[in-house]
Amino acid sequence: MIPRSTSLHVGVNTRVLQVQTAIYRRHRSTKQRFHDAAVVTPTTQPPLEVSSMARLPTRFVLRSLLLTSLMSSKLVLKPALAVLNVVTNSKSAILNPDRNRILNKVLRWTVYDHFCAGTNRAEVSKTVADIKSIGYQGVILGYSKEIVLDPNEKLARDEAGSTTYSDKCYNMVEEWKRGTLDTLSMVGSGDFLAVKLTGAGPIAVDGMAEKSAMPEVMIKAMDEICSAAQAQGSRLWLDAEQQVLQHGLDDWAIEIMRKHNKSDKPLVYNTIQGYLKASKANLDIHITLAAKEGWALGIKLVRGAYIEHETRSLIHDTKEETDESYDLIADTMLCRRMPEGIKELTFPHAALFLATHNAASAAKAISTHQNRLLAHKPTVMLECGQIQGMADELSCELVQNYERALKDSSAANMSVPKAFKCMAWGSVSECMQYLHRRAIENKGAVERTQHMVTALRQELWRRIVG
Ligand SMILES: Cc1cc2nc3c(=O)[nH]c(=O)nc-3n(C[C@H](O)[C@H](O)[C@H](O)COP(=O)(O)OP(=O)(O)OC[C@H]3O[C@@H](n4cnc5c(N)ncnc54)[C@H](O)[C@@H]3O)c2cc1C
Repeated sequence: MIPRSTSLHVGVNTRVLQVQTAIYRRHRSTKQRFHDAAVVTPTTQPPLEVSSMARLPTRFVLRSLLLTSLMSSKLVLKPALAVLNVVTNSKSAILNPDRNRILNKVLRWTVYDHFCAGTNRAEVSKTVADIKSIGYQGVILGYSKEIVLDPNEKLARDEAGSTTYSDKCYNMVEEWKRGTLDTLSMVGSGDFLAVKLTGAGPIAVDGMAEKSAMPEVMIKAMDEICSAAQAQGSRLWLDAEQQVLQHGLDDWAIEIMRKHNKSDKPLVYNTIQGYLKASKANLDIHITLAAKEGWALGIKLVRGAYIEHETRSLIHDTKEETDESYDLIADTMLCRRMPEGIKELTFPHAALFLATHNAASAAKAISTHQNRLLAHKPTVMLECGQIQGMADELSCELVQNYERALKDSSAANMSVPKAFKCMAWGSVSECMQYLHRRAIENKGAVERTQHMVTALRQELWRRIVG
């Protein structure tokens, strides 16, 4: 159940309850939803807006409905995944969408335009402007290019005869840095840059895999990226990878946060994957270090995208356990709970980005956040985001939630989480790995995808009859 606040702020409370109820209801059957509506919404309250999805352009609803319907069909998804898999991993020029114009067009009309921001600055700028005109408070943009190196070129011998990285490897870091800075220049103040450290090539990948200290060339690149982000009022997060790299990545992320998160609001966020059995212990390490050393902790919380490739025993045994873990980590941050047994330190300055398509988790976290604000208890800044082309019904609900709160002047409502859309850009070929991951994700979330189809159908019907 979603808890009801006992605060005296009656007007605000009513609205908070409406918002929580609306998001939570999305998870229930239509019949049950109508029952809830009758029970929860008193007749004296102002009516809820017709539909949070009314803000979406009709062409967007149509394309979304078509594609999401296809993706929620196991019959279509299985062969589509197989085709995507072949195109993603093929080295053949015919199957390279950047060379084969017909394949390029087909992919653009279907998956690319739905999930990606564009192939160049002009296209990305238009997508970002479109997203913001829908009402989203911001975007998260990442560069999809993944650099592939011939393994024979990786190492060279220096004069003393010991192995060292070739110039090509150093050029890759430079190229990655330039691409990342370009990406940053396509977002605005308040937006996020998504940084994929593995994109920097073997110097970064090997360093993370070996859990060695961050190489000087990476330190310099990250310093430049962080300074540029700070100068334009943006923030950045580090995408989480598989466990073989993530331990090293966590160490580097802490080093970057220690250096760049000097003010109360974090500039840099690290990603915690709730599906890992060790995720809460990992969060506690982050909290303790930030508290002890006096830097601000930025956490982006995801469930984890690599279940099919990860050592299974590292991941919670069931989906329910992953859900509990995710909600516990969000709760720990929102309630500013220090790890057990640590009495001498106070919780650091911190912020939480809830990256999820799961409406129940979003509703729980928003409820905790709001209830703490209403009770004048300390909490952390909360923001939410979904991937472009996914869970639009939840995203629209969050935007509506924020807009309603803006109309209210109370401090609690002013802190309603902002809603973001996360997207990748790059040529069609560069985005294939990203698109493949989205298709796999949809395969594992057929129920939720069907839910999105229902919401889109209802929205389309509302427009037809309206
Ligand atoms: C804005 C944004 C940024 C993201 N960035 C990253 C990133 O940097 N790194 C990354 O790894 N992922 C990232 N993801 C993807 C994320 O990790 C999830 O794969 C995806 O969001 C689906 O999870 P969910 O919270 O939306 O909810 P749900 O759809 O409710 O949960 C699905 C997830 O539950 C878990 N799960 C499913 N079945 C089981 C099972 N049997 N046992 C245990 N656990 C199970 C898996 O993690 C699966 O992805 C991002 C997602 C978003 C929205």
